[in-house]
Amino acid sequence: MSITTAEIKAESNVLGLMGQMEHENLLFFNDKETGLKGFIGIHDTTLGPSLGGCRIWNYKNEADAVWDVLRLSRGMTFKSAISGINLGGGKAVIISDNKEQRTEKYWKKFGETVDTLGGKYITAEDVGTSTQEISYIMQKTLHVAGKPIEAGGTGDPSPFTAYGVFLGLKASAKEAFGTDDLSGKKVAVQGIGHVGGYLVEHLTKAGAKVYITDINKENLKKVADASGAQVVGTDEIYDLDVDIYSPCALGATVNTDTIGRLKCAVIAGAANNQLADENVHGHMLMDKGIIYAPDFLINAGGVINCYREVQNLTENETRKYIDDIYNKTLQIFARAKEDKVPTQEAAIRIAMDRINAAKK
Ligand code: NAD
Repeated sequence: MSITTAEIKAESNVLGLMGQMEHENLLFFNDKETGLKGFIGIHDTTLGPSLGGCRIWNYKNEADAVWDVLRLSRGMTFKSAISGINLGGGKAVIISDNKEQRTEKYWKKFGETVDTLGGKYITAEDVGTSTQEISYIMQKTLHVAGKPIEAGGTGDPSPFTAYGVFLGLKASAKEAFGTDDLSGKKVAVQGIGHVGGYLVEHLTKAGAKVYITDINKENLKKVADASGAQVVGTDEIYDLDVDIYSPCALGATVNTDTIGRLKCAVIAGAANNQLADENVHGHMLMDKGIIYAPDFLINAGGVINCYREVQNLTENETRKYIDDIYNKTLQIFARAKEDKVPTQEAAIRIAMDRINAAKK
């Protein structure tokens, strides 16, 4: 299952890519009337129906969109498997450079498209989609999660995601410093949007000295004023003398350049796909002795919250899965040491053990 980005990108045909990454299905969709076009990727449904958000993005070309849907749906398989929930991995991407075209009719058409899969794929929010779009999609299909609270859903998943990230970060501190007490620990949070904002609250309550950065200066000031966190520059964040770096904005910020600059002992944040290349940079972190908490486990609070809707779980039942992120993070570190592999690889192995056991 372990493959490098370079190996994957070397594949020039879609079925070849699907074969390497072990996908079950890839749906191409196109609607002349609304202009809706994109892909739904279903990676693995051994544990349950595939679930993953719908991303709408101005992709440069189709190949980039296919690559994204395959990569993201595969990530969802691991995220749900390691979190102990009975969902498979899926994702939708819509190619769009025109905000005007994204009408109610457009989203309803997407709902009809999801419905053709008969529940094998359940959609939810992702980059570019919110409860507003979900409210249109759900008029055409029952296979939706992350519904608005007023429609019986669980609303914004960010507080749950942030709490899971906080627990994963504490477990990583325990591994690195022998204690999960964060008082006096210096933590740099990159991106103080939905998740990062809540995370800063948890960290300051725990007594950490928090540094924050964001390209949204207005929000940055608001969070700094409310929390007492210290504002730093967007590039400066990689050079700070801190204990923990928490990427909560974009993917791929852990790369050859930044690993050379980071002085922290721990990386633990919410952003998806933090390692620019999961094999190359996992090894670089291991060699440098930096503890990396795999993003797909510690940011799983959002998908766990969607699972709550799918399974009609109570808030307490849901909370147990999120609380478990702490112990699961420690399990990953133990497995990484045992197998002498980077933590990302250890996490994938744990996820695959669960899937392979279910197959038997
Ligand atoms: P968001 O858009 O609310 O916040 C992201 C923040 O990052 C914004 O404030 C943005 O201004 C800032 N940002 C963008 N580029 C930046 C840069 N170069 N430097 C510094 N800041 C920058 O998104 P979110 O919902 O808080 O999610 C944050 C990350 O966590 C994303 O990668 C997302 O995919 C991931 N994630 C979110 C959830 C969730 O429940 N929201 C769940 C799982 C994973």
